[in-house]
Amino acid sequence: MKSFSQMTKEELSRAKNKSNCCDHAEQTGILLFGTITPDLEEQYRIPQELVESECCKRALIKGAFLGGGTVINPRKNYNLELTTPYPALAKDMAELLESVGFSFKSVQRKSKEVLYLKNSEAISDFLSYIGAFRAQMELLNIKIEKEIRNDFNRAANIETANLEKTINAAVQQVKAIEEIQRRIGLDNLPDDLREVAKLRLANKDASLSELGAMMNPPLTKSGINHRLKKLMEF
Ligand SMILES: [Zn+2]
Repeated sequence: MKSFSQMTKEELSRAKNKSNCCDHAEQTGILLFGTITPDLEEQYRIPQELVESECCKRALIKGAFLGGGTVINPRKNYNLELTTPYPALAKDMAELLESVGFSFKSVQRKSKEVLYLKNSEAISDFLSYIGAFRAQMELLNIKIEKEIRNDFNRAANIETANLEKTINAAVQQVKAIEEIQRRIGLDNLPDDLREVAKLRLANKDASLSELGAMMNPPLTKSGINHRLKKLMEF
């Protein structure tokens, strides 16, 4: 299976540049970031005359990504990088990126200079800037899917938490009612409380709304809650 990087690069290599001037800039970007000479004393720089116009800045950056870029599958992680062994080239590129609105962070890894983005929005903007629109769409779709999944997990956790609260409350109520039964007997409770107490004992795992529905006449959840509180105070 192709990696997210490979798919992005295939899309980019099919995309045509706006004008002929950009082809040279793109090629230069590919060569600068894609060629690693054995002689690392060699110092590559970005030729400033090539990136005077906005269209060519974009083309050179696109080329740099084709030559030395990676973008991790957004399902795993949000990470886009440009790497080069040449520090001066990395510095030039960071400045060029800054001039078109992208703040890449930089780090040294295994004697390579790494410029990277870890923010999903910045990565999405960058993919669109270099013309990888399908990759951008894919990233945005995955992001939405992830967010929905997170919301769902959060909701499931809240439900579990609520369930536990309900169970704990029921346990406390049953304990209190059994205590009352032992001390004074349920028959000595006022009518409204006696009915609730008996129902609770008979239906230890029922929710408040379920208990309410069993009452005659039926009570709302808060009505039941009120009576159970009175029972607990008893
Ligand atoms: Zn151009």
